[in-house]
Order: sequence, then C-alpha cells, then structure tokens
Amino acid sequence: MATKFSEDDANQASQPQELPAVDLALIAQGVRLILEGLGEDPERPGLQETPRRVAEMYAELTSGMREDPRQHVVPLPGDKHDEMVIVKDISIASMCEHHLAPFVGKCHIAYIPKDGRIVGISKLARLAETFSRRLQLQERLTTDIANTLFAGLKPIGVMVVIEASHTCMTLRGVRKSDAKTLTLAVLVGFRTDPRTRAEAMALITGKE
Ligand SMILES: [Zn+2]
Repeated sequence: MATKFSEDDANQASQPQELPAVDLALIAQGVRLILEGLGEDPERPGLQETPRRVAEMYAELTSGMREDPRQHVVPLPGDKHDEMVIVKDISIASMCEHHLAPFVGKCHIAYIPKDGRIVGISKLARLAETFSRRLQLQERLTTDIANTLFAGLKPIGVMVVIEASHTCMTLRGVRKSDAKTLTLAVLVGFRTDPRTRAEAMALITGKE
C-alpha cells in the first residue's frame, strides 16, 4: 500500500533538487586555501592528504542532499495499531550551515497512526539521517522530518523533538560547552490536544 504524494505535500518539506555530483577536487582546492590562509604549508607531510580527506568527509556528511527522504516513509500495510508510537534517542550528526561545523544530538519522533498506517522503526531513523546529512539549521531539520513524515503517513499527529549540541557554540565564541539546543515541531493532533502532547513529552523526556 503505497501512499502517493500530492503536489501540496511535496511543498511542505525541503525536497532534494537535482544536484550535480560532489566535486571532491574543488573542495580539496578550497581546503588547501584554508591551510595557506592559516600560514601552513599544505605540502608538509602531515597535511598532504588533508584536503582529500576533508573533501571526502564533507561529501559523506552531506550525502543526504542527494537522497529523497520520502522514500523512507512508506506505510506498512495491514496493521491495526492506532496508539501513539514513539521512537526515542535516534542519534543524529548534522552540519550547521552557518559555520560548516557539526552538531550532534538525539532526535525523538512521535506519531499517532491513522487507519492503521505505520512505518517501520528503522525507516524513521533513516528519515532523520537523510535530513541530518545536509547543511542544516536545527530548526529546519526538525520541521523537515515532521512534515515529511506527516505527508507520507497521513497520521493523526506528529511530534519531533531534537536536542543537540552545536560545536560552533561549544568550541568557540561564548564556549558554553554543555549548552544544548532543543527544537520542537508539533503537527495537527499533538497541537490540538495538549494532553496527548504532554503525554508524548513525558515519554520522551522520561518524566511522568
Ligand atoms: Zn553554527
């Protein structure tokens, strides 16, 4: 039972454009310039392979830019489950688009199925991963996951919570090393019913 996406649904989340393949040589060239800008010698033994390694790392950390996240939201047929589903503590590693610095944390996804439509739990993790492996803002990452899940599954409600630590904050500037950023996307059923929302939050945070 595959659910088709309408044009409207497709517009609710950031969709992959047709991107050209990653140009590793061009990234490596840029990394060499950074090294030179730092007054380093890119040809010294310790740094010779660095531009190539960094280029490959950036390609891997942004691989989700070339994937369609909707492929992970295919409803499983024939299930009767209609109670809230929560998947907690999905590890995410993403890249802040303002500093090209990683932010890492946990993503929690809750939804209330409608008409028995559920999605495999590993698919929720893949959905979070596809959106994480892009140049991101934590706020957009959170809403993109929620909107794409909602569009694909048409559930009663979706709630996504991300708690993350941003290295652009913990390693530099104000250096609040233990600061965490919490973002929340709450759709439809969780928005209209404060009790359900509170129940989901309690289950996510482990507080009764
Ligand atoms: Zn940043």
